Amino acid sequence: MNMFIYPEYEVVRDENKCIACRVCERQCANEVHRFDPDTGRMIADSEKCVNCHRCVCLCPTHALKIVKSDDTYKRNANWDNQTINEVYKQANSGGVLLSSMGNPKPYPVFWDKMLINASQVTNPPIDPLREPMETQLYLGKRTAKIERDEKGKLKNTLAPQLKLNVPILFSAMSYGSISYNAHESLARAAEELGTYYNTGEGGLHKDFYKYGKNTIVQVASGRFGVFEGYLESAAAIEIKMGQGAKPGIGGHLPGAKISADVSETRMIPQGVDAISPAPHHDIYSIEDLRQLVYSLKEATAYKKPVIVKIAAVHNIAAIASGIARSGADVIAIDGYRGGTGAAPTRIRDNVGIPIELALAEVDQRLRDEGIRDDVSILVGGSIRSSADVVKAIALGADACYIGTAALLALGCHLCRTCHAGKCNWGIATQRPDLVKRLNPDLGYKRLVNLVTAWNHEIQEMMGGMGINSIEALRGNRLMLRGLGLNEAELKILGIKYAGESM
Ligand code: SF4
Ligand code: SF4
Repeated sequence: MNMFIYPEYEVVRDENKCIACRVCERQCANEVHRFDPDTGRMIADSEKCVNCHRCVCLCPTHALKIVKSDDTYKRNANWDNQTINEVYKQANSGGVLLSSMGNPKPYPVFWDKMLINASQVTNPPIDPLREPMETQLYLGKRTAKIERDEKGKLKNTLAPQLKLNVPILFSAMSYGSISYNAHESLARAAEELGTYYNTGEGGLHKDFYKYGKNTIVQVASGRFGVFEGYLESAAAIEIKMGQGAKPGIGGHLPGAKISADVSETRMIPQGVDAISPAPHHDIYSIEDLRQLVYSLKEATAYKKPVIVKIAAVHNIAAIASGIARSGADVIAIDGYRGGTGAAPTRIRDNVGIPIELALAEVDQRLRDEGIRDDVSILVGGSIRSSADVVKAIALGADACYIGTAALLALGCHLCRTCHAGKCNWGIATQRPDLVKRLNPDLGYKRLVNLVTAWNHEIQEMMGGMGINSIEALRGNRLMLRGLGLNEAELKILGIKYAGESM
């Protein structure tokens, strides 16, 4: 017998405002709303509600609100409602709990415990509206010493690099986990902004090859959709070793999301769960990783930078040092708040470490070993605003990946049920009737607006510090001060406490 589980949310309908237009019924893929012909009124099944707010936003008379259910078990600080419900769910199903998006637990957010400096009197600020402010940057190996022959011709062979107009890229999100229209929005926005989007592990749809110069293609453990043309089409190749939302395990795309188009792109059967293995079965050491890095370079005539993406875990600095020596051009680190289309809840919420601490450790280790210029560092895993970007760069990152913020710009309401494939906003779904709800013409403009706005704010913050380029901000930890941090945290972050002098 299944245990009854109290609904998490309650749909509240103001009967005085509702005109029974049935918009909510048509808009809800979870079939929460229903018209009752006997009473001529709308009925809601709160049990099915995931709090995606589609009905609330589209109700023409603002008759709806979704509230947290006040059905509670007897108060118990140790066994809260959610914990009890999760035990009931697993006793009912015998299955692993699945979740989507990033870790929602109230762990400390270190970005919010760091404050940015500003110039006063002796070191004047720079006005970005009147003076040049450089946010363009390059990712990849830096040549230690440029040498020229007597005619001024470059003697060095320069490593391939990625040029970015803004210090922001769109994180890996696969076609399959997100919709065609969401992918098109990301690709077009990356092209217009002069930055990059990332295919994730889902292959590259044939329609998107035209965005190749703004595309990073991923090679993950499942090798979905990987072939020579895929590698050739891209600006850079990312080897995905791990992901912040689920370190130590592989990927999982439920069969319901594997449409004919997704199956063709991934080169896998339609309607069958796509499960990528936890390890790459050809990588068990840094030497093995080096072989894959060089195989990919060889396959693309050494013209494309290779990124190695890892999840932020306990021994991150030593792992990053090995990756820097593997021949990779860029290390991408994904923190424990990073989003996902589907992950086991317990892994998402309990495995990994904060990106802020991981970044500080890695940057310092690579500097100490004299190999910081051999690789660029990209970070992601809940970069929520331009201030987070500035703090990340001051801590040592070259640029930041954004995922959840990009999805929010496309209309995501963070209901965290992407794995169900019924995203009412047309983002994390393959259902044609839902996919068309996201108009890529509007979606890409919203992404361009978001990144443009952040870039203005980054310029203002840099100007306030008296810094006129991303390059001068990178690793400039003197521009940060801690607040509410203990000695160990300050030491790892390599910053002083607020009020301490230079
Ligand atoms: S969308 Fe609003 S007005 Fe229309 S049926 Fe639903 S609650 Fe009533
Ligand atoms: S993408 Fe869609 S399903 Fe996923 S959290 Fe956002 S609104 Fe919910």
